[in-house]
Amino acid sequence: MTTALISVSDKTGIVEFARELHQAGVKLLSTGGTAKLLADAGLPVTEVAEVTGFPEMLDGRVKTLHPRVHGGLLARRDVPAHMAALKEHGIDTIELLVVNLYPFEATVAKAGCTLEDAIENIDIGGPAMVRSAAKNWNDVAVLTDASQYAQVLAELKAEGKVSRTTRFKLAVDAFNRISQYDGAISDYLSALELGAEGEQPKQNLFPGQSNGRFVKIQDLRYGENSHQQAAFYRDLYPAPGSLATARQLQGKELSYNNIADADAAWECVKSFADVPACVIVKHANPCGVAVGADVAEAYAKAFKTDPTSAFGGIIAFNRPLDKAGAELVAKQFVEVLIAPGFTEEARAVFASKVNTRLLHIELPRGGASAWEQGLNLMDAKRVGSGLLLQTADNRDFDPADLKVVTTLQPTEQQMQDLLFAWKVAKFVKSNAIVFCGGGMTLGVGAGQMSRIDSARIASIKAENAQLTLQGSAVASDAFFPFRDGLDVVVDAGASCVIQPGGSVRDDEVIAAANERGIAMVFTGTRHFRH
Ligand code: 5GP
Repeated sequence: MTTALISVSDKTGIVEFARELHQAGVKLLSTGGTAKLLADAGLPVTEVAEVTGFPEMLDGRVKTLHPRVHGGLLARRDVPAHMAALKEHGIDTIELLVVNLYPFEATVAKAGCTLEDAIENIDIGGPAMVRSAAKNWNDVAVLTDASQYAQVLAELKAEGKVSRTTRFKLAVDAFNRISQYDGAISDYLSALELGAEGEQPKQNLFPGQSNGRFVKIQDLRYGENSHQQAAFYRDLYPAPGSLATARQLQGKELSYNNIADADAAWECVKSFADVPACVIVKHANPCGVAVGADVAEAYAKAFKTDPTSAFGGIIAFNRPLDKAGAELVAKQFVEVLIAPGFTEEARAVFASKVNTRLLHIELPRGGASAWEQGLNLMDAKRVGSGLLLQTADNRDFDPADLKVVTTLQPTEQQMQDLLFAWKVAKFVKSNAIVFCGGGMTLGVGAGQMSRIDSARIASIKAENAQLTLQGSAVASDAFFPFRDGLDVVVDAGASCVIQPGGSVRDDEVIAAANERGIAMVFTGTRHFRH
């Protein structure tokens, strides 16, 4: 006879599942709370305590940690000595294990969770049984999630047993679950600062970032190219307002490149907190950024920067998209549209555009911690058999750090344009040169090996889009190493420049700015982005 041991904290669907198991002739063993629930539902169930000869003790800390349980799970049915040992000690085999664990993750996610609460919610016997059963997958089927009940039942009913393929898949899922669970415990504890006895420990980091633990969101059809395999993972505790918290409202499955570009667009648009903004991204670079009185105006201006590149772009807004905005956007081909909300009417505009993916992301909560502000703490990049880690480029400029280095002071309007340009330049791949004016980008030069080429490209782009650069403001993500780059932007029409400064030839570049009669501001901070 098949025996199932059922011990679940999340009791969703368990009575129905156990009833079907019983009807299929499976004998039911169970722990205290689960056994009571099943018995109350009229099912014949044997308490594990009866099998072990020990009562559950220490507030449930010890329930199933017993050779009669683990022997029944771990014995190899194909090894005669194992079966003889079971017989000698009067141990019965267990063929099905149904366990889900104490809700550790949910407990520590609650505000005000104490260390004691967290510790009591570390399941000990559950993971031990899951590991035993998963190790012995060839003889035991282990279920760790209610979503697995239906398939196992179907196989039991049809074949009288759970298939080898399913048992293996269940074991893999089980080890994944245990690893995730232990990860959550390790993350939570690693982030605590213990403090004095009697005091609640302080959370010195937010959970999830301490060990860089990730959970798979989805497999992707392919990676950057069709011959590459890919998947999308998120932090165990994603920061509110981050891309990993996006909800897709419509459209085809997101691709690898869509996700990367969506992140670039969303991170950039999020940085404009006070005013409606729109960012259009192509190949990881903003090709149009603008602010406006409303989303429609912001979009119209952003589009003007580079209508050619905007085709098939990824568009992000920092305000909910309304009908007027949606109707404008719908005139172009959009791959992905991101906003912290869409009105019903805006949704209706895109309902027939099945290829456009709509992503809803809530804006960050804006609390005190970097996490509440939706910021990534760490950046990672894979290099030949290694990993480069750095804290993310989260430094916002402090107006106090700004230093006008030329005789000419920028006007208030120029200063506004410079700060706008500087914000955008942070999100443009290096070398970045960004011409702006009137709350919009006028020309973006990105990803060139020389700053002077980026400057040339930016002005060519402005020319192509029939935008004038006369009187424009220019941002450079890093210092001008020589005066030549500065001369190119002034020749193109720039009237003021913002850059970090810090070159050994700063004097030469400042002299050039004075000679050309423009205002120049140093930020003291560089924003390389590779
Ligand atoms: P019940 O509600 O049936 O009393 O308890 C079910 C929970 O107990 C399950 O989440 C299971 O993982 C957990 N569990 C089973 N055996 C043990 C044990 O020996 N020690 C601890 N700490 N938890 C156990």
